[in-house]
Amino acid sequence: MLRFGEAVLIALLAGVIRLLLKQLWGEPANFQIFSLAVLVSVLRCGAFSLVTVALSFSLGLYFAQVGGFDASDLSQAAVFLVTSAVTLVLGRAAAKLHRRAVSVGEGAQVHSQEAEHLAEELGLLIDGARSYAIYMLDSQGRVTIWNRGAERLTGWSEKEVLGRNFSLFFPQDAIDGNEPAQILARAGAQGQVEEEGWRYRKDGSEFLASITVTALYNPDGGVRGFAKVVCDVTQRRAAEEQLRARESLLSSVLSTVPDAMVVIDEKGSILSFSAAAQVLFGYSEEETVGRNVRMLMPSPDRDRHDGYLRRYHDTGEKRIIGTGRIVFGERKDGTKFPMELAIGEAVTGSQKVFTGFIHDLTERRRTEERLESLQSELIHVSRVSAMGTMASTIAHELNQPIAAIANYAESVRDMLVQPAPEDFDLMREALGETAREALRAGDIVRRLRDFVARGEVEKTVEPLPGLINEASVLGLMAARERGVETVFDLDPYASPVFVDKVQIQQVLINLVRNACEAMSASAERRLVISSGPDQAGYVRVSVSDTGPGIEPRIADQLFTAFVTTKSEGMGLGLSICRTIVEANGGRIWAEPREGGGTVFNFTLQRAQTESAL
Ligand code: ADP
Repeated sequence: MLRFGEAVLIALLAGVIRLLLKQLWGEPANFQIFSLAVLVSVLRCGAFSLVTVALSFSLGLYFAQVGGFDASDLSQAAVFLVTSAVTLVLGRAAAKLHRRAVSVGEGAQVHSQEAEHLAEELGLLIDGARSYAIYMLDSQGRVTIWNRGAERLTGWSEKEVLGRNFSLFFPQDAIDGNEPAQILARAGAQGQVEEEGWRYRKDGSEFLASITVTALYNPDGGVRGFAKVVCDVTQRRAAEEQLRARESLLSSVLSTVPDAMVVIDEKGSILSFSAAAQVLFGYSEEETVGRNVRMLMPSPDRDRHDGYLRRYHDTGEKRIIGTGRIVFGERKDGTKFPMELAIGEAVTGSQKVFTGFIHDLTERRRTEERLESLQSELIHVSRVSAMGTMASTIAHELNQPIAAIANYAESVRDMLVQPAPEDFDLMREALGETAREALRAGDIVRRLRDFVARGEVEKTVEPLPGLINEASVLGLMAARERGVETVFDLDPYASPVFVDKVQIQQVLINLVRNACEAMSASAERRLVISSGPDQAGYVRVSVSDTGPGIEPRIADQLFTAFVTTKSEGMGLGLSICRTIVEANGGRIWAEPREGGGTVFNFTLQRAQTESAL
């Protein structure tokens, strides 16, 4: 609205000037002054200048008519209209250009502000990178920008290095070899150079630098300067070297130790498989690394190992970690072998790894012999295999006294048909012999028991978990076949014990075999062998099963010889166990297991004094 008023005003002002000019010079041209007004209006009022044109034309016509309209007025009016039209068009174009110029100017201002911010942030960023030296060189290699990191790394302050050639940081021999200039030349040609080399600090000390040089180019392609990023890698490189040295030491140790070693992660995937392990199991490293370690185990461990790891992960309860155990391994060709397994645990970063050291028991002749002799000794008490021997021994030994008893008894019976007083002495004598023979038979049974119990006791100090594990290998061969799940719960502190090792192993095997037999018809077949402290000076070993429990009719005489509920049983196993345990200074008893089944317990003397020696 303001501009409209202005447009009207300009036209009216031109009209007034036209009147004044008429007063001064007589009859001036009627339209010229209005052309000027249109020009002013176009510049000031934009589109409203049309109002000025219309008004000016009307005023021009009015003045022409007052002075008497003639032909010159007509041509002047035409010229006025044409010049006004041209002025209007040019004015619009000029206004457009003006607006664009203004917006470009504003944009330039915004950009320059942004550039300023950016430069400031970049400066902060460069200075903030404190473990990096970031600096700029001109095309000749003179320092032009120097950050705080560079100051910290080299000891040179900004004031000291600005303008100086960067060869300052090189050792003398590198300067002699023209290395600084060569680096710049290479960066200029390739755009960027990365290298590692020794550089000097201000105090003369050296550091291993990792360096990136980037060339900066002018638009014409000429090198304007260089940006350098330098990092001190002395310590990192030393640590890497140390790590490499340790790794090679470790791998040389691992390739020479006779024991097989297998490292697994928390999920059971094999991480490393030593040279000895490759020989032992028959797999190459490529065939095993990345696969689950259960491939090295026979059933049932094969199917349960993931569960073992999960349980350890969830509960943190150590069953095998930290203690050795005898277990079975399976080779690539499917053969199984007993092995001694010791497991250690290590945490590397956030990862937990388990290291298994494996002694092949089949390859250790001594152990093999030991196992063989153990096995042959155990045959005495293995009821099934020794039954024939036992039966014939007993039959043979008892035959004589029993026959004699029968003879004496028959003679006395015959004499009693017609008892004569003179025969009384004879009869008394015969009955005396009967009693003696009966006692002899009892003696034979006792001797036989002692013989099976291997005579005198030879006590030594033995670690209990080792003793139990060794016996279990033999005892559990049957368990595996019967699908019995076996759990060990051995207290490492309930050890060592002072016992006759072979005899106590016989006891364990007896109890394990009885337990396995008792569970043959059970749905759940779980055997737990545990150890723990008992009353002062003793430890307790327990063998528990999930069988039907002890038959009540024999419960009272469980440990008496020849008491059995089995059609093929001898009823000697438990009586021998009691003889052995008592001869070793302990006691044995059975009790019902909570939730069904039986627990057989026996105690052994702790070897406290011996271990303290
Ligand atoms: P045998 O096994 O030859 O019968 P033992 O003296 O070893 O001789 O066992 C005597 C009896 O004790 C067995 O017949 C059996 O009835 C019972 N018995 C032994 N161990 C167990 C057990 N774990 N669970 C149930 N009964 C058992």
